[in-house]
Amino acid sequence: MQTRLFASPQYPAVPTADGALYPVHRIFCVGRNYAEHAREMGVEVDREAPFYFMKDACSLVLSGATTPYPPGTENYHHEVELVLAVGRQTFRAAVAEAAAAIWGYGCGLDMTRRDLQQAARAKQRPWDIGKNFENSAVIAPLTQAAAFGPVGHQRIALSVNGRTRQDARLSDLVWSPAELVAHLSRYYHLAPGDLIYTGTPAGVGPVVAGDVIQGEIDGLAPVELTIGAPE
Ligand code: MN
Repeated sequence: MQTRLFASPQYPAVPTADGALYPVHRIFCVGRNYAEHAREMGVEVDREAPFYFMKDACSLVLSGATTPYPPGTENYHHEVELVLAVGRQTFRAAVAEAAAAIWGYGCGLDMTRRDLQQAARAKQRPWDIGKNFENSAVIAPLTQAAAFGPVGHQRIALSVNGRTRQDARLSDLVWSPAELVAHLSRYYHLAPGDLIYTGTPAGVGPVVAGDVIQGEIDGLAPVELTIGAPE
């Protein structure tokens, strides 16, 4: 019998509105899924197909946390996003089938080391160092799709210390939740435990130690993050 050298890392789980836990396996994130945000980043939305990056499950942090201002950045940004929680095995799904694979929704923050992301982008390198790091995927409790209802004109907004910075509608999404699940399922065997951050609207900006970030989407539990002192 071989000795396990250390305990296996634990996958995180997200509380649900009805008191259960949703175990998380993978975190997919969509880039440039609101036209106004793409414009403020100096690019246009690619309407041919969505594109993705990933965060490790261990980067997840639950709403209400205080997390340290992360290392290596001088431009730490907030991005409020609708998060999809996949609820069944999905591979090469049509859009209607993909819609039925969405177990529920959450309000999340895709925290970003913008300076590192943009430096990588300028050199045509991967974005990981700007996007995939500890505490960078913040998530509020999840709500089942049936209780949330159709994704449409719901408001998605974010404030820092009570001042509104992002304010849009889910109807501004370029690619709908079902379209994203269908497209991703052409490249991955999606499964229960997969979260998909669907992109952020315009108004992203920096935060500093002491800031309190609040994100909200009509019909979902709000997400909150406090930025602590640098490590
Ligand atoms: Mn994002």
